[in-house]
Amino acid sequence: MLRLLLVPLTVGGLALILAGCGIADGGAVVAVAGDARSGRTAGIDDAEFERHVRELERRLPSDEFHIVVERPFVVVGDEAAETVRRRANETVKWAVDLLKRQYFTRDPEHIIDIWLFRDKASYEKHARELFGRRPTTPFGYYSAAHRALVMNISTGGGTLVHEIVHPFIRANFPDCPAWFNEGLASLYEQCGEKDGRITGYTNWRLAGLQQAIRDGRLPSFERLTATTTEEFYNEDTGTNYGQARYLCYYLQEQGLLAKFYHAFRRNVRDDPTGYRTLQTVLGEEDMESFQRRWEQFVLGLRRE
Ligand SMILES: [Zn+2]
Repeated sequence: MLRLLLVPLTVGGLALILAGCGIADGGAVVAVAGDARSGRTAGIDDAEFERHVRELERRLPSDEFHIVVERPFVVVGDEAAETVRRRANETVKWAVDLLKRQYFTRDPEHIIDIWLFRDKASYEKHARELFGRRPTTPFGYYSAAHRALVMNISTGGGTLVHEIVHPFIRANFPDCPAWFNEGLASLYEQCGEKDGRITGYTNWRLAGLQQAIRDGRLPSFERLTATTTEEFYNEDTGTNYGQARYLCYYLQEQGLLAKFYHAFRRNVRDDPTGYRTLQTVLGEEDMESFQRRWEQFVLGLRRE
C-alpha cells in the first residue's frame, strides 16, 4: 500500500528536468514523458508541450525553478530538482494513472501547469506575482482561468491530489455540482493504493464532522446535494466538505463510488443534484434512515 508522504525540503539549481529522461540542464532539448497507458492529452502534441515549456521558462521567477513535463500537466517547482521530478512521478503521474483507471477518459483540453512552491513564503509571494492574487487557502488551489494548480507543497502531497481531481472533473463531468466535485477531490487528499485502486483514507476532516453529527448540525443529504456552487462554498457552516467527503468515503467502502460517479455523470441532465442517482445506487427508499446509519458509520471511524 503506497501512502503519500511529506518529503524534506531542499533547494536546487537545475533549470529543467525531463521526467522519465533523467535530469538535464537548461540547454537540453525538451523531451516529453508519457506512455501509451497514461495516454496523450487530447489534441496536444509534443511540439505544443515544447513551446509551452519554452514560454514557461521565460516566465520563471528565478533560476531555482525546475520544469517537469508529466502529461497532461507541466510541473514547475522551486524545491530541489530531484524532488520536483519525484513529485511529478510519484504523486502526479501516480494519481493521474489511478484516477483514469476508475473515472476519467478525457484529459483536460489545455496544458495545465502545476506550480509547487516550496514553502508558505514562496507560495504567497509567487501566487501574487504570477497570478495577481493572494491565496485564500494555506494549501493550494486550482485556477481554471490561469490553467494552473497553485500549491504550497510543504503542506503535503495530499492537497496536490485533491487539486488534480478538479481539472479532470471539469474535462469529464462539466456539470458536476460543487458538492460532488469537492467530495471526490477531498476524498483523495489522504490516499493510497489498494488492489490497484486509488483509495481515500480517513483524515483531519473527520473530527469536525463527528462533532457536527453529535450536535445534530448536519443538513440532510437532500439539502447538501441541492446546494448551489455559491451556497456550497460561501454559506458553508464548516461541514459541507466533510459531509461530502465522508459520503464519498462511505460509497467507496461499499464498492459503489465509481458506480455512482459514472451513473451520476450519465444522468446529470435529469438529476442535476445527484440525489436521485444516489438513492438508486444505494438502493435506499428511506434516506432519513440511511442518514442515521451513515452517521453511525462515521461516528465509528477512527483517523488513520
Ligand atoms: Zn477542491
